[in-house]
Amino acid sequence: MKKEVKPANEIKKTIKPVRKSACPYDRRCGGCQYQDTPYKEQLKKKQKTVEKLLSPLCAVKPIAGMKDPLHYRNKVSAAFGRLRNGTYISGVYEENSHRIVPIEECLIEDQKADAIIGTIRGMLKSFKIHTYDEDTGYGLLRHVLVRVGRHSGQIMVVLVLASPILPSKNNFVKALRKEHPEITTIVINVNDKQTSMVLGNKETAIYGKGYIEDSLCDATFRISPKSFYQINPAQTEVLYKKALSLAELTGKERIVDAYCGIGTIGIIAAPHAKEVISVELNRDAVRDAVQNAKKNEIKNISFYQADAGKFMTQMAQQGEHVDVVLMDPPRAGSDEAFMASVVKLSPNRVVYISCNPETLARDLQYFDKHGYKAKEAWPVDMFPFCWDVETVCLLSKLRS
Ligand code: SAH
Repeated sequence: MKKEVKPANEIKKTIKPVRKSACPYDRRCGGCQYQDTPYKEQLKKKQKTVEKLLSPLCAVKPIAGMKDPLHYRNKVSAAFGRLRNGTYISGVYEENSHRIVPIEECLIEDQKADAIIGTIRGMLKSFKIHTYDEDTGYGLLRHVLVRVGRHSGQIMVVLVLASPILPSKNNFVKALRKEHPEITTIVINVNDKQTSMVLGNKETAIYGKGYIEDSLCDATFRISPKSFYQINPAQTEVLYKKALSLAELTGKERIVDAYCGIGTIGIIAAPHAKEVISVELNRDAVRDAVQNAKKNEIKNISFYQADAGKFMTQMAQQGEHVDVVLMDPPRAGSDEAFMASVVKLSPNRVVYISCNPETLARDLQYFDKHGYKAKEAWPVDMFPFCWDVETVCLLSKLRS
C-alpha cells in the first residue's frame, strides 16, 4: 500500500507548537521570558519567586497585578541597522549579540512609540540618512528612543547619532511631526563611542523643550532623556502608594529619599512630612528633581547629587536625625556603606523598594543582623511578561 504523503503545510498544522506565544519575535528577542505563560500564571510564578527569597525573613503579601498587562512600557528604545539588501531595520538586539531582531510592534511597548519608530525607519531613505555600522564605524543613526507621558500625552523622540549633524534637520522634524503631531520634543543625542551604552553625553533639542512632563500620584514631573523614570506608570502609582502607606507619615518626620531619580517618591511624600532630604547620583536626574520640586511648589525638600552610600556616611558622621528612610536602589541593591549608615542614623522605619528580590533578600539579611526587622513585603508586577519583579518592603527598628 502506498503511504499517504501529506503536503508540507498540513504537516506543519499537525505538529504541536512547542510554545504558543502571541508574540512573533518570541524566539529571537530575549526581552520577555514569560511570553507563552498566561498572565495569572506569571503572577503566581513571581509570587513564588519572592516568597522563596523573602519568606524566611518576613511576611510576603499577594502580588499586585495589572488588569490589562499589554503595551505598558512608556519608554521604547530601538537599535537601527541595515540588511545586506539595503533594507533598513529597527528593533532589539538578539540576546548576547549585536544582531538586530526587526520589530514592527511589540506587545509590551507603547503603540504610539512603535509607530513613531516605524515612521522614522521609513523616512531614512528619502532623507539619505544611513544607519550606523558598528563594525566599520560608518553611518549616522544608531538608536531611537521614545518616551511617552501617559497622563500628559507628551512624547519625546531622541535620535542617537554617531556625529552631531542630521542632514535636512528642519525638514526631518517637519516630516516626522506631520505624521505624528503628538510629538512634543525631538532631541539629538550624540554617541560617538564604541560602546554598548545607548545614549552619549552631548544633547541638543532640535524641536521643543528637550524633555517631557508627566504626572504620577497628582504631582507633575519633568523627565530628561537620560533620567530614570519608571517604565510602567499605572503600576508605579500602586507601588508609590504602598510605599507611602508603609512609611506611615504624620507630617512630623524627617525623611531621606535615597536613589531618588527625578525626585518622584520624595516629592509625593513631602506634603505628609516635615522635611525630605533626597540623594541621587545622576546629574541630569537631580536637575530634573530640583525643577520638579519647584513645579509642584514643594518647599520642604532638598536634593544632593552624590553617591548614596557616601552621602549617608556623611549624614551619620554629622549625627543627623532621621525618622524614615525611603530607599530605591538599582538592581545591584544597596551597599554596606549605605546600610551601615542607616543603622547608625537609627530611623524608626525603612521602606525599601527593590526591582531585584535577590539583592533585596541579601540586604534584608544585613539589616536583620543590625537591628532592623523586615515586617512585610508587597510584590508589585511592574514588568508583565518578564521575569523581573518589584517589591516594596517595610523594615522596623528593633527596640534595643
Ligand atoms: N526612586 C526613583 C529612581 C529609582 S531607580 C524612582 O522611583 O523613579 C534607581 C536610581 O538610583 C537611579 O536614578 C540611579 O541613577 C540611581 N543610582 C544608582 N547608583 C546610585 C548611587 N550609588 N548613589 C545614588 N544614586 C544612585
